[in-house]
Amino acid sequence: MSAPIKLKALTKSIWVFHAACSPCNNCDIEILDALTPRYDLERFGIQLVGSVRHADAILVTGMVNRKVVDRIKRVYEEAPKPCVVVAVGGCACSEIIFRDSYNACGPIDKIIPVDAYIPGCPPKPEAIIMGVVKLVKALRGEK
Ligand code: SF4
Repeated sequence: MSAPIKLKALTKSIWVFHAACSPCNNCDIEILDALTPRYDLERFGIQLVGSVRHADAILVTGMVNRKVVDRIKRVYEEAPKPCVVVAVGGCACSEIIFRDSYNACGPIDKIIPVDAYIPGCPPKPEAIIMGVVKLVKALRGEK
């Protein structure tokens, strides 16, 4: 089945908002690395934006704790729909070592709907690019 028209439109030039939910910052550094000219994520039309109100996708990093859980919900609510959510790194995907921590409220897919997962601690820029390309293909309805 092909993807709905609105989702297909997202594959042309995805603007992404980066939401850091108390990460150690290594995942964030790898996301920024993927955007540098060396890895050049912008060649796929992907651009980082400063406001979630301009975003087509939200990249979430880190373990969602009690302090940020309401904020990430609000970030998702403020994003124009349709909006895709990508969990970047083991903390966002499955909480890894922080699972069962007294302060853990995640993983992120328990808080907001997640469309793609990019595991790793941290994932390399190549893995982030592969995850984003797979997401774009899925949105286009390609295999
Ligand atoms: S997945 Fe690893 S690198 Fe990423 S925020 Fe968690 S601990 Fe840090």
